[in-house]
Amino acid sequence: MKTKLTRKQKKLLTRIIVAAALFAVMMVADKLIEIPWFISLPMFAVPYLICGYDVLLAAFKNIAHGQVFDERFLMMVATLGAFGAGEYPEAAAVMLFYQTGELFQGIAVGRSRKSIASLMDIRPDYAVVIRDGKEELVSPDEVALGETILVKPGEKIPLDGVILEGASSVNTAALTGESAPVDVSVSETVISGTLNLTGVIKVRTTSTFGESTVSKILELVENSSSKKARVENFITKFARWYTPCVVIAAVLLAVIPPVVLGIGSWDVWKEWLTRACVFLVVSCPCALVVSVPLSFFGGIGGASKAGILIKGANYMEQMAKVDTVVFDKTGTLTRGVFKIDDIHPNLIGKDELLDIAAAAESNSSHPVAQSIVRAHEDHIDKSRIGSVEEIAGKGVKAEVDGIGYYVGNGALMDLCKADWHDCHLTGNIIHIARQAGTGVDYLGHIIINDEIKEDSEAAMADLKKLGVKRLVMLTGDKKNVAESVAGKLGLTDVFAELLPADKVSKVEGLLGDAGKLAFVGDGINDAPVLMRADVGIAMGAMGSDAAIESADIVLMDDKPSKIADAIRISRKTMRIVKENVVFALGVKALILVLGALGIAGMWFAVFGDVGVLIIAILNAVRTMRIPK
Ligand code: ADP
Ligand code: MG
Repeated sequence: MKTKLTRKQKKLLTRIIVAAALFAVMMVADKLIEIPWFISLPMFAVPYLICGYDVLLAAFKNIAHGQVFDERFLMMVATLGAFGAGEYPEAAAVMLFYQTGELFQGIAVGRSRKSIASLMDIRPDYAVVIRDGKEELVSPDEVALGETILVKPGEKIPLDGVILEGASSVNTAALTGESAPVDVSVSETVISGTLNLTGVIKVRTTSTFGESTVSKILELVENSSSKKARVENFITKFARWYTPCVVIAAVLLAVIPPVVLGIGSWDVWKEWLTRACVFLVVSCPCALVVSVPLSFFGGIGGASKAGILIKGANYMEQMAKVDTVVFDKTGTLTRGVFKIDDIHPNLIGKDELLDIAAAAESNSSHPVAQSIVRAHEDHIDKSRIGSVEEIAGKGVKAEVDGIGYYVGNGALMDLCKADWHDCHLTGNIIHIARQAGTGVDYLGHIIINDEIKEDSEAAMADLKKLGVKRLVMLTGDKKNVAESVAGKLGLTDVFAELLPADKVSKVEGLLGDAGKLAFVGDGINDAPVLMRADVGIAMGAMGSDAAIESADIVLMDDKPSKIADAIRISRKTMRIVKENVVFALGVKALILVLGALGIAGMWFAVFGDVGVLIIAILNAVRTMRIPK
């Protein structure tokens, strides 16, 4: 990524270069000839002021506000102290390096902001809405629900919607990280934030801009920095104590030894003053304060480029420690797109049975329901449908053409006391019963089957390779179906025939102490489980609001393999954070000890401090790259 400097950064860079050149000339001159102090003081004060005048100004302003522990104030005291102690080159050098560090830090933060901003590229600037047969260019938030918009090739799709006219292919890379375009045509849905590639399409909006996928994602990413990881909180607290302590130590170091040693000579005072200045130079915790949040920022930004949205650094911290991954079956490990294998009617015909089932299911978002509706093919007249009640983990109870029906699994049949029987075929058996007086008539069942997702098996192997100990599947489906899926995928545990509430208690039972538990679902009726797990992961979130809201980590597409990627990114980020913390604290402690002993002078301190900052920043920026 090429980085353009801002105007301010360019100015600072110029000042640093000019000051450094002058400084170098002075150094050489100082080495070659004996220069008296009244000449060498201004000689070094010039580059000092050129590169550091704004630091001094800011420091003065801060004193007026009572901010004594501000890093610029500390730099000012340290450098002026060094001038006072007669260490002119050192004083100028400290300022020079400090400013170099500042410039560096500005560039790095700007760059990682930009990497998130490139994700922000999904924000559409305008929408072309068709009103009274005319095209109007408006801001996306002026388009109402149900209006028709026109999207030309090369334009961003501004709102979620359904295609009315035309066909095209859509690039979802900005949301999912997936570069292969997806073909779409009439009556299929398109998601805001994706890019229309080839054809002109007319779209009927299914959300306002505020409710659209793109707004939800932007909000999520923008808020992610407010959820801090434990290390981040630790660093903030640490910094609050560290700086005052070191400053107090510096003052004591400048005063006590000369007094105790009882020597009034200027050389002794000077010696301890220099040592105190060393303390002030390393009293700034910037390497930590900057690099730790920067690492998380980079990690979250890098992940979002791969279609993995992480709602906060705290979830990254948990994700790095995951040793149990619990999956919902339908729509998570399996495609959630059921094929109808057979229809076994009772009392009525096959077509009539499918018609009733599809009508009853037409208001449900459950994958089973949607598959039955899809299989029905013909249009379902919504006016046929009366009240509908969804019974989670069992099915639906719905009024069709004025008659009550139950459509669902065996548990639902028991609930309505139908005289039902199981099927000899394997698969998800959806039974249908009709209200008849106080009882019900059993109308037969539909056998449907789901396919395992293409990458599920590889994803499980990958997770095992990462050291995940338990791979658990929870499902409301029947035992034989569940076990066959689990066997094919090599899962360690399976729990079948669970109601949504049972899933919560199973997850509670699996929660460990050290190792963390991640639950992966599709966001449809598993919100309580997503909340209960250490990390709730929702997949297939493109267009699903429920998933975006209730999960901690959101996978934009529905590939289970992204879970291993999320663990890898989290672990890498945590490793980099730890490296920076240990490295920065170690070097600072070393400088403090050597400085107090008079072994390390100002040169050592400034190299150490700014060097640590720059190395920590370079290390932090690495989190943006996605590990493979
Ligand atoms: P899963 O754990 O596989 O996601 P759910 O808990 O959502 O499953 O549902 C469990 C079972 O209940 C389904 O396999 C299905 O047999 C039945 N079921 C749930 N919702 C419906 C529905 N809307 N229509 C028919 N059957 C349903
Ligand atoms: Mg489910």
